[in-house]
Amino acid sequence: MAKKRLVVGNWKMYMDDPREAREFFLGLRKRARGMSGIEVWLAPPYVLIPEAVEVLESSPVEVGAQALSSHADAPHTGEVSGTMLKWAGASFVIVGHSERRASGEGEASVREQLLRAAEAGLAPVLCIGERERGAEGEHFSDIEDQLSSALKNSAKGAMKKLVVAYEPVWAIGKRAEDAMKPQDLQQMVIFIKKTLAELLDRKMALKVPILYGGSVEPANASELVKESGVSGFLVGHASADLEQFLAILQACK
Ligand code: PEP
Repeated sequence: MAKKRLVVGNWKMYMDDPREAREFFLGLRKRARGMSGIEVWLAPPYVLIPEAVEVLESSPVEVGAQALSSHADAPHTGEVSGTMLKWAGASFVIVGHSERRASGEGEASVREQLLRAAEAGLAPVLCIGERERGAEGEHFSDIEDQLSSALKNSAKGAMKKLVVAYEPVWAIGKRAEDAMKPQDLQQMVIFIKKTLAELLDRKMALKVPILYGGSVEPANASELVKESGVSGFLVGHASADLEQFLAILQACK
């Protein structure tokens, strides 16, 4: 049986009206019912997780978080641990998003967050991506470095639920025409698969879904998913608009 495609919505701070958020959850529950051949995950801000879980409980949509603390213990003001996310009903967490890396999260923190996610039983969606493309192919070594720094020495079995989201930073937050082209993406997907096979148990590496993120919209979703070999998408701005998000899901079915 063909593997299901996976689409993860990252709401960032786009949705700031709780009533609008509830309408979105209700609408998604209704319209995602019976959608086969696809997995849908949604990462609202922390404060909306319990409500998303409550509304989406009987639907095929999984709820997760946009980040988690790299710390395992208590004295860290303002932080939210993997365990807390788990008891709030989250089943996955985004780790190492470029916007968080840009505000100071380093490789060591990303590595710790992956471990915290695994300890809490959350599926980590590890974001990697080059800031720019180099004429000599430097972006490939950027990706190799990010993957190996995040995954080297990870305990066997700890990365069983790993999802990798390739998000070139230069393509994030723009329009469909600025996204990566399918042929370039296909090359990168092959490279990521090869790198994962070197870093992880080979059998496990083959099972890791590889998503693309960066200006995915209804206009480019179908072409990207059909021609690049990705397992699905990590969607930013278009995931906070129900009609656009549903159109992307439709393209992935
Ligand atoms: C993201 O930042 O994870 C992302 C994919 O954003 P956008 O879809 O808005 O480019």
